[in-house]
Amino acid sequence: MATDYYGILGVGRDADDAEIKRAYRKLARELHPDVNPDDETQARFHDVKNAYEVLTDPQKRRIVDLGGDPLETARSGAGGGGGFSAAGFGGLGDIMDAFFGASGGGGRGPRSRVQPGEDALIRIDLTLEECATGVARELTVDTAVLCEKCTGRGAEPGTQTMTCDTCDGRGEIQNVQRSFIGQVVTARPCPVCRGVGEVIPHPCAQCGGDGRVRSRRTVTVQVPAGVGDGMRIRMAGQGEVGPGGGPAGDLYVEVSEERHEYFRRDGVNLECDLVLPMTAVALGTTISQRTLDGEEELHVEPGTQHGHTYTLRGKGMPRLRSTGRTDGRGDLLVNLDVRVPDRLDSRQTELLRELAELRGEERPDLHSQRNGGLFGRRRSGGRGR
Ligand SMILES: [Zn+2]
Ligand SMILES: [Zn+2]
Repeated sequence: MATDYYGILGVGRDADDAEIKRAYRKLARELHPDVNPDDETQARFHDVKNAYEVLTDPQKRRIVDLGGDPLETARSGAGGGGGFSAAGFGGLGDIMDAFFGASGGGGRGPRSRVQPGEDALIRIDLTLEECATGVARELTVDTAVLCEKCTGRGAEPGTQTMTCDTCDGRGEIQNVQRSFIGQVVTARPCPVCRGVGEVIPHPCAQCGGDGRVRSRRTVTVQVPAGVGDGMRIRMAGQGEVGPGGGPAGDLYVEVSEERHEYFRRDGVNLECDLVLPMTAVALGTTISQRTLDGEEELHVEPGTQHGHTYTLRGKGMPRLRSTGRTDGRGDLLVNLDVRVPDRLDSRQTELLRELAELRGEERPDLHSQRNGGLFGRRRSGGRGR
């Protein structure tokens, strides 16, 4: 059974928008979860919200008036069976199809001419910076939209759809055959009305009776800050309108994040390498570190080791919550990459030799054994240097 959206709001089928809004406001005040947190009231509040959403959307309301349930089809997903009202096409219908080779077979009545529309998917390329700040993008979408001339009915304005004579409105034709096992009744969809049970004597000139036409339009998607590769933004009702002007599917915008020349992304954290010459690291220095927000001073203490990671708190990507809001930011991890000088000239070699001598490092094998190294430290159990 289709949900009684009018009943839920307690309004008549001819109620106008203002009336529906009044009824909704009144119920919402009574049932609001902040006032009544119990489960039953919350479920009712949810129903009331749905009913309001459906009845204030002209397209969805029309589905209801046609005996369908726009949310039912939305729940069952695009491309699937689902179907309107009691005349479902999924489940048992599919099994019947297997037996009868007919869609909606088994005497389950005509199928609705009005079908939910398909979802649509568009991919957009975003730079890391755009992912970090969020961005509004204009997209050109080419989808089926409601035919304005017949408002989805499929019949030329001023004309009516008619019950199909061939199947008497049942949408299927039964065939009784006698065979050695007795009477065999088979049903197949009516070829004249294609199972719908009604025909359009004067199809709309604009859409040819389909109730929808293709149209190119521009929509603007608001990409929130913090999105990442593969994330999808759902734009409800911006997909394809279904046959017979059925409720539109959703438009999904999938983010494809471009590789950044400097930063690597790991969830909400960013990583990068800080390449410094050995001398600078040995002596200590202050450098200007690139971040997403500009330059930041970074102090390299004398004697910092290769592979050391500096954590710049809050300099990563915004943390995007499922609500679409952001909640703080990740960190920027700067990995120190110390480069040993190569291609030394004789003077530089001389200086380094002298340094090695001063530090007692002429025999590095002895040096590393004396100072422990990894194994030595482990054996002695000490943590000191
Ligand atoms: Zn039309
Ligand atoms: Zn028919």
